[in-house]
Amino acid sequence: MTTAELKTLIDKLEEKSSLGKDEYVELIKNRGAEIDQYLFKRSQAVSQKHFDNKVFSRGLIELSSYCQNDCYYCGIRKSNKNAERYRLDKGQILSCCENGYGLGFRTFVLQGGEDPFFNDEILCDIVFEIRNKYPDCAITLSLGERSRESYEKLFDAGANRYLLRHETADSDHYSRLHPAELTLANRIKCLQDLKDIGYQVGCGFMVGSPFQTSEHLAEDLVFIQEFRPHMVGIGPFIPHHDTPFADCAAGTVELTLFMLGLVRLILPNGLLPSTTALGTIDLDGREKGLLVGANVVMPNLSPVEVRKKYLLYDNKICTGEEAGECRLCLDNRIKKIGYELVSARGDYTEGDGKNV
Ligand code: SAM
Repeated sequence: MTTAELKTLIDKLEEKSSLGKDEYVELIKNRGAEIDQYLFKRSQAVSQKHFDNKVFSRGLIELSSYCQNDCYYCGIRKSNKNAERYRLDKGQILSCCENGYGLGFRTFVLQGGEDPFFNDEILCDIVFEIRNKYPDCAITLSLGERSRESYEKLFDAGANRYLLRHETADSDHYSRLHPAELTLANRIKCLQDLKDIGYQVGCGFMVGSPFQTSEHLAEDLVFIQEFRPHMVGIGPFIPHHDTPFADCAAGTVELTLFMLGLVRLILPNGLLPSTTALGTIDLDGREKGLLVGANVVMPNLSPVEVRKKYLLYDNKICTGEEAGECRLCLDNRIKKIGYELVSARGDYTEGDGKNV
């Protein structure tokens, strides 16, 4: 395809918020500096139309580095005997929230490995307490695959949002990234259950994961345009030295930004984080993500003494700073690019107008 034809595809995507799989493949395979810039101008404009230059912040609390799963890419997979394991207790989680509230966070994200210790009773009690103490805050969970009943109980206890990356929308590719007991079909069932229950739902994928092709990425985009999540987490794959993918190459900044730009055109109102992984492969990665259409950052509120133990990939940034320092550092970085970190809860809203 010529550059002019590729630009026409981007125009079409902006107008219709969808393309066919083959059209995405063409864009991904043939992109280059000129197409990148053409897309980024559009995706930034769409983001600014809805969110001005405002960036929502979510306070991330990493509950547990125990995990019953064995995803081949992940540093806290159960077979990694060198991973240091920890789990926060209720008091520690609540003090992270208290600290975060004081720093201006109005969304708490409880993320962790799939740790059976956090059964429904224990988790609902924690969610319920956060809900009562901070009625003005959103509670996001990112705790992997659970039963529909479990998701319902957690919703009733006060959780509002759930992040569960689909990882890849191609089932063969999924089976090359996960052991046989984990299936794309179940992942999608979980995502559908969450949406039906009433959560604001986030899916997402890694860019540059092992064996990934342009066709796989195109399938991810088609999945997103059909499923219409409220949030999409996109970050580069980064190898972890104690996993089967230790020697694989990391995803690139350029392709990650390109995917973020395309997703912004698919979901003009979507909540798109500029991820820590993007900030890890490029020190200015998070700022670059915001400039191509991302509108969320998720600084860490976990106690500093456990940060290095939640090591999903090598060289993860922000593992040595207190929550306050992290927030201040991000605040300054965001100001430097002419954007503003805001305290608003930042819920998903439909419509053509402003979302801030
Ligand atoms: N257990 C929950 C789940 O599976 O959704 C939440 C925690 S999980 C560690 C969060 C995300 O980290 C995954 O969805 C995956 O995309 C990302 N991740 C894991 N290993 C990674 C790696 N090596 N590079 C980049 N991202 C990674």
